[in-house]
Amino acid sequence: MEKALPELPASLKNVAVFPEDSRYDKVRSNDYKVGHPKVVILAETEEQVIDAVNYAAKINQEQQMNFPLSIKSGGHGLSATSVNDEGMVLDLSQMNQITIIDEEKRLVKIQAGALWGDVAQKLTPHHLVISSGDHGDTGVGGLAVSGGMGILLRSFGLTIDKVAGATIITADGKKHWVDNENEPELFWGIRGGGGQLGVVTEFLFHADKAVPTDSGFSVPIVVQTVDYSIDHLPAFIEAWHQWFDTSSTKLTSILLLNAGDDDTIVAQGRNFWYGDDSSQSREVFEKANKLGEVLEENQKSMEYSDFVRAQHTPLEGKNTAYGRNILVKHISENVAKEIQYLLDKPFVYGVELRSLGGAVNQPTSYFNAWSYRQEEIMIAYWFDKNYAEEANNLFQPFLQFGTGIYGAYSSDESSTETHHVWKGEAAEKLRALNKRYDPNQLFTQNRKL
Ligand SMILES: Cc1cc2nc3c(=O)[nH]c(=O)nc-3n(C[C@H](O)[C@H](O)[C@H](O)COP(=O)(O)OP(=O)(O)OC[C@H]3O[C@@H](n4cnc5c(N)ncnc54)[C@H](O)[C@@H]3O)c2cc1C
Repeated sequence: MEKALPELPASLKNVAVFPEDSRYDKVRSNDYKVGHPKVVILAETEEQVIDAVNYAAKINQEQQMNFPLSIKSGGHGLSATSVNDEGMVLDLSQMNQITIIDEEKRLVKIQAGALWGDVAQKLTPHHLVISSGDHGDTGVGGLAVSGGMGILLRSFGLTIDKVAGATIITADGKKHWVDNENEPELFWGIRGGGGQLGVVTEFLFHADKAVPTDSGFSVPIVVQTVDYSIDHLPAFIEAWHQWFDTSSTKLTSILLLNAGDDDTIVAQGRNFWYGDDSSQSREVFEKANKLGEVLEENQKSMEYSDFVRAQHTPLEGKNTAYGRNILVKHISENVAKEIQYLLDKPFVYGVELRSLGGAVNQPTSYFNAWSYRQEEIMIAYWFDKNYAEEANNLFQPFLQFGTGIYGAYSSDESSTETHHVWKGEAAEKLRALNKRYDPNQLFTQNRKL
């Protein structure tokens, strides 16, 4: 007979949603999966997070029950592990405060449940910006423990590079403030080590300051969109790489590749210039127009927060995309041909190439748990998840072409994939931290270290 759940502590009763509750359908899912948890806790305070962690740990230990505990911030994790079946979902979306602590020092405290679009909206009038992903509905929690590649990546680096401190609740229910002085190893681990070490409830960020300009925008960007038709993909990719690498770090570029007619490839370049429209930005964008046969091109100046806008779209588990990726230093002719082969399948949604380098490559590989500071391009492969087996087989050769994988941009939770996310010394250090802070393996709804 199925064991009944023990009574919830009093502090959680008003924030718990059980399957029979009319709100259950609104909180059970993330972007990729419809969950069937036994209970969802809509935590509003750190005390409730502590009580929820203790409750889940007690059930796992004393009742010898498999009671998975998922942590959900924005619900946009590609792994879909922020909801589960038969366990608890600790939903932090109500903990979404964004507070500018010290404008002069650019210190901003953000609770894990805030969305990046709302962060941009709050910071922009103050000329402040934190490099994040480019989708406004992704959550602060998931991104700030794993990576964070956005449209200002080459100007300001990864999101995890901007974390100056954090509050984390570990599996024993203890609250820790971590930064360079306090528990520096744990601080190192939560910046790229994913959610294996505990629940981060809030982050202290060191934001960047945008210099006021004449345009009237507080954090100005210029977005160029260029549609190309390509006959020879290797030469085009090589020219694109050379172009962004020799341009300013104010430029971040994303290429979206798809199969076109008659063996051609269609590519859309999305180029982001941090700053006002200027002779420098126009010169760089003019060069983008010479990379291949241009079908259409446009440029638009705008506010950063208007691009990274939160839509607050309800999470219903309907996203059918499955993503894989590899981080590379260079795309050789051989690799470009393999990319072309990936595109030639009906289930593919496209291949995305993201420019790295610039500020991402400034810190040393020991700065935080992101080891890939030499790589210059991320190759991301998107396809229909119903064809995961076939598509994963096709992507397999790419593992030898690159040096690592961005874990939060991959839907593949297998141990083979995880071995490419963290390697060598970083992997060992994370495993040791995981053993120390989660000895009974409470936080299993994530990559297994
Ligand atoms: C449409 C879309 C666009 C995206 N665009 C980008 C992009 O431009 N750049 C980019 O870098 N990524 C991008 N991603 C990937 C996404 O940002 C990451 O997967 C990120 O982890 C999602 O964070 P979340 O809080 O929304 O996820 P959630 O689903 O809530 O969480 C994902 C996992 O992170 C861990 N976690 C979440 N919150 C916490 C916490 N508070 N403490 C500890 N662990 C936690 C948990 O293990 C959880 O299972 C995109 C994803 C989608 C679906």
